[in-house]
Amino acid sequence: MVSKDLHLLDKYSSSDLVKQVSRKIQNLQIEKKLNLMEICGGHTVAIMRYGINQLIPGNIRLISGPGCPVCVTELSFIDKAIEYAASNDFIIATFGDLVRVPGSKDTLEKVNGLNNNIRIVYSPYDALKMAQKNPDKKVIFLAIGFETTAPATASTVMLARKENISNFFILSAHKLTVPAMKVLVHTEEINISGFICPGHVTTIIGARSYQFLAEEYHIPAVVSGFEPLDLIQSIYMILSQIKKKKAMTEIEYKRSVTFKGNTRAQDMMYQVFQKEDVTWRGLGEIRQSGLGLVPEYDMFNIEKIYPVKIKTPGEPKGCICGQVLRGVKIPLDCPLFKKICTPENPVGACMVSSEGSCAAYFHYS
Ligand code: SF4
Repeated sequence: MVSKDLHLLDKYSSSDLVKQVSRKIQNLQIEKKLNLMEICGGHTVAIMRYGINQLIPGNIRLISGPGCPVCVTELSFIDKAIEYAASNDFIIATFGDLVRVPGSKDTLEKVNGLNNNIRIVYSPYDALKMAQKNPDKKVIFLAIGFETTAPATASTVMLARKENISNFFILSAHKLTVPAMKVLVHTEEINISGFICPGHVTTIIGARSYQFLAEEYHIPAVVSGFEPLDLIQSIYMILSQIKKKKAMTEIEYKRSVTFKGNTRAQDMMYQVFQKEDVTWRGLGEIRQSGLGLVPEYDMFNIEKIYPVKIKTPGEPKGCICGQVLRGVKIPLDCPLFKKICTPENPVGACMVSSEGSCAAYFHYS
C-alpha cells in the first residue's frame, strides 16, 4: 500500500513499485511472442531511458510506431519551407527540432544563413506576435504535430482573424493519430497485439477514440502516462487483458485522460481545420489523416495564397526511418546508425528530434 504522503511523482518513479508490477507481469506467465506498440515519442524516450523493455519477459516486444511529430513530417514539407525561406519577403517561424530535419537537399538550419529569416518559436502565438511586430514581412508558422498541438494552432488562427492580422500564415502538417493506427493494424508486416496509447494526444481526443481496436480487431489498448510506473502498469494492463482473452480500452493515465477528452479543444480544432488525405513519412498517404484549413480560413493558408512548386523528393539514401516508424525494424538494424547518422549529423528525421526512435536508441540503448 502506497503512503498517502508519498509525493505523486515519487510514487510514479518509485523503483520498488515498478519492480512489484514487473513481478506481476512475470507471474502472468505469458509464453506467446507479442508485439506491443507505443505511438508516442514521449513513451519511446521513457521506455529507453528507464529500461522498461528490460523489466518484461523477452517474448514481449515493445515496438515504436509513428509517434514523433517531427519524424512523421514528410520530406516535401521541409522542402516547401526551404522554398519559402529563400525569399526575403517571408519569416519562417518554427519549433526548434524542425530546423535540423533534412529535406531532400538541405535543412532549414543550413539555409538560414542566406536570409537569416528562420526563427525558433515555442508556440503558434509567438509567431502571431512576430507577424504583428514585422508588418512588412509575411510570417509563416510551420504547424506540425498531432491533436496535442493542433488546438493551439486553431486558436491562434482564430485570433489572427479576429484581430485582422493579414501577414500571418500557416503551412500545416498537422496529423491525426487514429487513421495511422488503422493502417498499422491492417499491415501484414507486423502483428500488433496491443497498443500503449499516447497520454497527451488522448487528453484531447479521449480514450473512446480507440474503442474500434477492441470492437473491430480484438486488440487491447491502454492509455499511459510517462513515468516508469505508468508504463510498466500499462503493459501489465494490456497483458492481463490478453491473458484473459479480453480486449478493451482502458485508461492508466487517469491523472489527465478521460473517455470523452477535451471537447472544447476538439470543437475549436474542427472550426478551423478539416480532415484531409496526407502523406506520412514511412507510411505513405493515409486517407483523412491530416488537418488542413477550412475554406473560411483560406486567407491564412500560405499554400493557397503563395503556392510553391517542389519536386517530390525521395528518402535519404540508406535511411530506414520509414520501416522504423512502421515498427518493422528498430534503429539498431540501420547500417548508418551511430556510424554515419548521429544527433549531430542526422541523416533521417528519426535521429533529429529527442522523441525520435533513433535518437532515443542513440542516447539510451
Ligand atoms: S539511424 Fe539515421 S539513417 Fe538510420 S533509420 Fe535512423 S534516422 Fe535513418
